[in-house]
Amino acid sequence: MIPAAGDWSGIVKAGQRLRIVDLEGHQAVDFLCYDAADPAERYNAADTMKINGSIFLGPGSKLYSDMGRALFTIVEDSCGRHDTIGGCCSNESNHLRYGATPGPNCRDNFVRALGRHGLGRKDIVANVNFFMHVPVGADGFMNTGLDAGHSKPGDRVELRAERDVLAVLSNCPQINNATNDFNPTPVRVTLFDRD
Ligand SMILES: [Zn+2]
Repeated sequence: MIPAAGDWSGIVKAGQRLRIVDLEGHQAVDFLCYDAADPAERYNAADTMKINGSIFLGPGSKLYSDMGRALFTIVEDSCGRHDTIGGCCSNESNHLRYGATPGPNCRDNFVRALGRHGLGRKDIVANVNFFMHVPVGADGFMNTGLDAGHSKPGDRVELRAERDVLAVLSNCPQINNATNDFNPTPVRVTLFDRD
């Protein structure tokens, strides 16, 4: 159980599955992943969008590394839409966008979680946002945080590791916009074998 605004990290072995459940709905989960043996190889948002042919992730999407290898495949998904372009919240962006004073944020969560694996700020890249909705218009309009996500209570996404992967997530603490419906809530992470 990852409390509201908490973080988690762990190694997911090749073939194992990582399930993330949005227990109460409308909760964004910011997500990074790395090759466990060589974390210099990591999730690459641009290649993931290009190869999947979409800026959104859903059932069957693969999360690709900068070396052209799949790290995870989305094998089950009851929500169906996840963001690749909004990135994570930080004190700095919250100040720029909302004049907010420092508080819990995904960037600090990432730094804390990565620190448990000998990684740090330089290892943060453009991340996946599970259960997050970032509308993008035909004219290029985009507004991270305009709407709460589409997830309902109990929605889940299940990822199969395609190699040994270090997974890092932040249960987004954002309260300055609608991302979490102004109410960050817990999520559940389960690691299990199948196949
Ligand atoms: Zn966040």
